[in-house]
Amino acid sequence: MVMESATTHDELSFPRKRESDPRLRGDDILDQIGNTPLIPLRKIGREIPGVTLLAKAEWFNPGGSVKDRAAASIVADGERRGLLNKERILLDATSGNTGVAYAMIGAAKGYRVKLCVPSNASPEILKTLRSFGAEVVLTSPLESSDGAIREAQRLMEAEPHRYFYADQYDNPANWRAHYETTGPEIWEQTEGTVTHFVAGLGTSGTFMGTAKRLKEFNPSIQAIAAQPDSPLHGLEGLKHMATSIVPGIYDPHFPDLHVEVKTEDAYCFVKRLAMEEGLLVGISSGAALAAALKTAREIRQGVIVMIFPDGGSRYLDEQFWK
Ligand code: PMP
Repeated sequence: MVMESATTHDELSFPRKRESDPRLRGDDILDQIGNTPLIPLRKIGREIPGVTLLAKAEWFNPGGSVKDRAAASIVADGERRGLLNKERILLDATSGNTGVAYAMIGAAKGYRVKLCVPSNASPEILKTLRSFGAEVVLTSPLESSDGAIREAQRLMEAEPHRYFYADQYDNPANWRAHYETTGPEIWEQTEGTVTHFVAGLGTSGTFMGTAKRLKEFNPSIQAIAAQPDSPLHGLEGLKHMATSIVPGIYDPHFPDLHVEVKTEDAYCFVKRLAMEEGLLVGISSGAALAAALKTAREIRQGVIVMIFPDGGSRYLDEQFWK
């Protein structure tokens, strides 16, 4: 690139360079991660008049889910620590959304991506991963996400120099993404009026990072964790912690309250969100709403912010819609 005048190193930094070169103008896809809307549930919320229900609409992220935030943070952290470079393959286990996020970010940044995924993951997710050029290793559906984790660990141990093992379950850059972005966004969007925070637990990164930050803004904010009520459940993306490999980043004593959600209840709320609020969301969003309404009935007054991790289009073939 020919520069018109002598410049310092600082002037060549990322935004300045894009302004001066017309080919580089515009925003990168990865710059679209975060700053998602906070949407009030006006009809369902009316059931408990003293409580405001607000949904953090994470499907507005470019990869379609909350996991864009964690994946972008994990990749940036790997780059900063010199562990991720073009010679290494980004490797992780994922039940779907994190994989899509890694695959999208890998494609945009030019990294190879290899993902261990339970073979019963939705066909659309698998097609999406492959469309971004990621390599997919299918693992036993009977072992769900734990089987995928064991396979990723096995691959890493066999050839440690080939991979950057992103390890979303144990990587602090996962929860830090939410500490640095989701938490402050919610605080600003509610103008500091949030009283309760509800999120489902998968890796727990969303819950741990957001709740930690919100409690720093105001220690009286109550953090409520939603979990499936049994090991065999249909709450895709969530973990039944008592019977799973517990993520290293999870502290079971951190939530103020644990709410167990039945799969059927989450399905029911997914349908109500579509038909009454015009929000087509994933099953874990229905689970977050189930936990939020249970809380709302108990507190009668307050501002509850729920994380709605992804949109509903991937789940349209589920039996509960029929
Ligand atoms: N819902 C869905 C649909 C997800 O894919 C995930 C991620 N596994 C979660 C909720 C939970 O998010 P986290 O991993 O941050 O706990």
